[in-house]
Amino acid sequence: MLEERIGHIKTKLGRLGELRPGVLSEQLNVCSRPGCRCKANPPQKHGPYHQLSWTRKRKSRTRFIKESELRTVRTQVTNYQRLQELVDEWVDASIELCDIKRQLEREK
Ligand SMILES: [Zn+2]
Repeated sequence: MLEERIGHIKTKLGRLGELRPGVLSEQLNVCSRPGCRCKANPPQKHGPYHQLSWTRKRKSRTRFIKESELRTVRTQVTNYQRLQELVDEWVDASIELCDIKRQLEREK
C-alpha cells in the first residue's frame, strides 16, 4: 500500500509542468509627475503591478511580471508548490516504509 502511494506520487511528479519558486504580489505605485492622479485626494495610484519574489541559493530576487505573463507565472508557481507538497508526501511515505522494512528485518 505504501509502495502504491509512492508510485502515485512519482507519477504525479512526472506530470508536473514548468516550475517557478516564489511569491506573486501586487503593488500600486506613485510616480514623480506633478499633478498626476496618483497624488489626487483620494489618490488613484498606478497599477496594480505584479511582481514575483523568490529566493534561490540564498539569493533573493524580484521581477516584474507583465499582465500577459501572469497566468503562466501563476501556473508555474502553483506547480512548484505542488512539487514541494508531493516531495513531502513522498518523504513521509518513505520514512514509514523504511521503518516497516526495518521492523520486518529485525523480526526475522
Ligand atoms: Zn502618477
